[in-house]
Amino acid sequence: MKTLTVTLFLLLTVNTTRSIAHQQGQHSDVHYLGNEGVIASHGEIKVMFDPFFHNTFGIYQAVPERLRQAVFAQTPPYNDIDAIVISHAHEDHFSADDVLAYLAQHHDVSLIAPQQAIEQLVTDPRFQVMKDRIYPISLAFGDTPISLSVGELAIEAVRIPHAGWPSRADVENLVFRIGLTQELTVMHLGDADPDVDHYLPVKEHWQKKRTDIAFPPYWFYYNLEGNAILDEYMNIENHVGVHVPTEPPKWLLNSGKAFFSEPGTSIEIE
Ligand SMILES: [Zn+2]
Ligand SMILES: [Zn+2]
Repeated sequence: MKTLTVTLFLLLTVNTTRSIAHQQGQHSDVHYLGNEGVIASHGEIKVMFDPFFHNTFGIYQAVPERLRQAVFAQTPPYNDIDAIVISHAHEDHFSADDVLAYLAQHHDVSLIAPQQAIEQLVTDPRFQVMKDRIYPISLAFGDTPISLSVGELAIEAVRIPHAGWPSRADVENLVFRIGLTQELTVMHLGDADPDVDHYLPVKEHWQKKRTDIAFPPYWFYYNLEGNAILDEYMNIENHVGVHVPTEPPKWLLNSGKAFFSEPGTSIEIE
């Protein structure tokens, strides 16, 4: 019952916000898998963020096995995936075995991931035959954001420290801004730290392009600083929280913020 309430809350909240994308009859939506796993689609273009992982630390939302199998089998709506994007190589975001198995099965899918994740793949014999569609991102803390094109996708990445800064400074956490088409730009923040000092130095990067919908970890909603980063600094039109514990905290339920908590839930983007 609680879960149902949360889902309805999410849909109501999102439906009352204004239209996110404006396009010529192309269908757009965002589909939730679990933890920070989401699939964003616009027309024929589909990108999966952090879809495969096995450690929930007993707190976070796993991808239910039935859903995981449907994703692997590319059962609609999980068909025709263009790319997998990995935010960072933590076990609640990334499984090297699953990513290798998926890419070995689906030859049209590209992988964009931080170097730390790629390092877990290169020793596998399957890596050699798929390396042409693998795009490692190597960014140190403080590096200029980078841009690359992968098929139709306009990908930009910036290294933003993992939550808990300055501890875990070694984790290559990437904030991706991806133009699926000219009409829809999405952002995935991984486990970004909600400290404004990380975002100000790359102010021009945020200003360069409007993001239609972003997926911040729910801790951004906890205080004024996190909310200001999303609403004032990052040039984001709309955002939906992810990485929400299976028991969403009361403050989050009372915050009025939209967030994903039920795997299989979709948000239409009109
Ligand atoms: Zn992490
Ligand atoms: Zn995490």
